[in-house]
Amino acid sequence: MGLFTPTYYAKSIYDIPLYFYKKEGIKIIFCDLDNTLDPFFLNEPSDQAIALVKKLKENGIEFIITSNNHGSRVIHYAEKLNVECHYSSKKPLGYKLKRFIKRKNFEKSSIVMIGDQILTDVIASKRTKVRIILTEPLVKKDLPITKINRFFDKKLRKIMIKKLEKREISYEQN
Ligand SMILES: [Mg+2]
Repeated sequence: MGLFTPTYYAKSIYDIPLYFYKKEGIKIIFCDLDNTLDPFFLNEPSDQAIALVKKLKENGIEFIITSNNHGSRVIHYAEKLNVECHYSSKKPLGYKLKRFIKRKNFEKSSIVMIGDQILTDVIASKRTKVRIILTEPLVKKDLPITKINRFFDKKLRKIMIKKLEKREISYEQN
């Protein structure tokens, strides 16, 4: 069951306080795009995505989009957000992300993945051996390809959220 268990859980990427990243020694975020950072039907970054990335960058946190979606969607969005991206990431497989981490010379312990799906994002994080924050999908609608995964995800999620490796992210400021 370890393959399905997220390290942390937050309702949304927009709920995660900055001090959490600092406390956990996170310097690089690998963020899923569709339904984690913005709804899948938005071609350009929302104001909240722009504001979030700005805040993270100002605090020395590197933000990289890692998405299973195709290059034209991901590159266009990432350029508008002015961040690096890794597209066709082939999550839940880990080999492309592992290769990317190696090429960039990143320290795995300084990375956290953020994603809304257990069957792609969480499993990929396990195979890549980096921590992950599981979130709820931003909108109920999904890409057709995601619908089957979401069916299983809903069942798994109820169990997994109780078994978090680490505690739920605390929302109290300290
Ligand atoms: Mg997603």
